[in-house]
Amino acid sequence: MANVVVIGAGLAGLPAAYELRHLLPKGHTVTLISSESKFTFIPGLVRVALNLKPLSHVQLDLARLAKRHHLNWILGKVVKLDPKMRCLTLSGKAISRETISGEAASGETIDSEPGTDTEIKYDYLAIATGASLALDLVPGLGPHGGYTQSICTPDHALTARQAWIDFLKNPGPIVIGAAPGAGCFGPAYEFALMADHELRRKGLRNQVSMTYLTPEPYAGHLGVSNLKHARKLTAELMQERDINVVENAAIATVDEQTVHLSNGQTYPFKYAMILPAFRGASFIREVPGLADEQGFIPILPTQRHPDFPEIYTAGVSTKIAQPDKTQVPIGLPKSGQMAEAMATAVAHNIAVDLGAIQDSLKVPTLEALCFAEFGETGIAYVAAPVLPHPKTGERKRSYAVRGLWVVWVKAAFEEYFMVKIRAGVGLPWFEKLGLKTLFGLKMLKSLSEPLPVTLPDMASASQEKTTIHTTRG
Ligand SMILES: Cc1cc2nc3c(=O)[nH]c(=O)nc-3n(C[C@H](O)[C@H](O)[C@H](O)COP(=O)(O)OP(=O)(O)OC[C@H]3O[C@@H](n4cnc5c(N)ncnc54)[C@H](O)[C@@H]3O)c2cc1C
Repeated sequence: MANVVVIGAGLAGLPAAYELRHLLPKGHTVTLISSESKFTFIPGLVRVALNLKPLSHVQLDLARLAKRHHLNWILGKVVKLDPKMRCLTLSGKAISRETISGEAASGETIDSEPGTDTEIKYDYLAIATGASLALDLVPGLGPHGGYTQSICTPDHALTARQAWIDFLKNPGPIVIGAAPGAGCFGPAYEFALMADHELRRKGLRNQVSMTYLTPEPYAGHLGVSNLKHARKLTAELMQERDINVVENAAIATVDEQTVHLSNGQTYPFKYAMILPAFRGASFIREVPGLADEQGFIPILPTQRHPDFPEIYTAGVSTKIAQPDKTQVPIGLPKSGQMAEAMATAVAHNIAVDLGAIQDSLKVPTLEALCFAEFGETGIAYVAAPVLPHPKTGERKRSYAVRGLWVVWVKAAFEEYFMVKIRAGVGLPWFEKLGLKTLFGLKMLKSLSEPLPVTLPDMASASQEKTTIHTTRG
């Protein structure tokens, strides 16, 4: 019987673990490892940072979820991976031997305590460790040891919130934006436009000048080129709200009160929130041949690693390169819903490989839908698929629409997502049906169907179709 280990309990890792538990017979062990004791719905951190919602509203206790849904749960940080030995090392945690060998009863919560490093063996591994923040690339960036806020982690969101509360007592210029190499722009726009909305509501907006600094070639690019109407709608909104937009901005350094661009321009601030570039977790970067220089893991269409057949990946840790050559480097956004689709494919394909289900292998289509809320309005962005056709530059669907309904849908979706995570559900049929009916989006395809797009960094699908699965347990 196999021990399937999932590293990371975020928007990709937790649904992957749930789906594995549903698909695999009881004899197989599903082990979930996370460096955090709580699941965090990361998109909710924008509201947390602006003091519009407590952090507890977007978090759930992982030990409880794991017990309820029969996952072996380990709180610990993976610091080393040996793919040849199929072995992981966790830092400073001592856990029971039964669990390490995969014999613990399903649903057991593993007590961890300070001690020497612990080794865990796996038969299959799903890596879903999300983003590690590359704050070091820009001197002065980040809340700890730097001068800017970030909203990418619960800890950062809480620090940003305290700084926001202090700022409201003594307002001044605000700078919001993203560093070179960033690929997740939606939250930066949300933060800028919701901050504007809040300042207006509080009667403080006339005391605050707002600047949005972005490496995007134009406002509304969002790391996804030629998204119909996105440029016009986003630019209009920034203009309506009197936010000065600086495109192709390469933030070089930040000091206590000023952001410096590489072209010498400077932007003073009393409050700054700058999203950093992302990389993969450090243990990923240290394994020869596992990932690219940034720590993003290459995949075959089924999310399987091209060289380590028992390793799969889902979410932000997946390598999907930005096809656009831009003046200032930018990444490609990997949305929550893309992360979930990847996670579903990972679980399905491991279950097929283990012989637990008889079905064709599944491929995530990478059709992306993102709801961005901007106060009294919002924009829904649809890029299906997120990467355009490499030759024609076309997509099956590509549009942006603006309206207050987006704010309502986003709030409803967050509630739905938290209920779904509590209930131990991954990507249910009714969600797939809803996305298909309302937005024409299909989350997964069979490997045997024509693939939606040639991902530049994927090994070829034909390679995958001839892969001999030697890892069947
Ligand atoms: C502020 C913000 C707002 C966003 N808003 C939206 C939105 O509105 N819509 C949307 O679709 N997407 C949004 N996104 C993107 C979305 O959050 C990501 O796509 C999603 O979180 C990716 O899921 P993931 O599982 O890859 O990473 P995460 O959700 O970040 O989970 C990573 C997990 O890995 C664990 N981990 C990391 N390293 C280790 C280690 N070494 N050992 C053990 N565990 C480890 C972490 O503890 C965590 O549990 C937003 C992102 C940000 C930053």
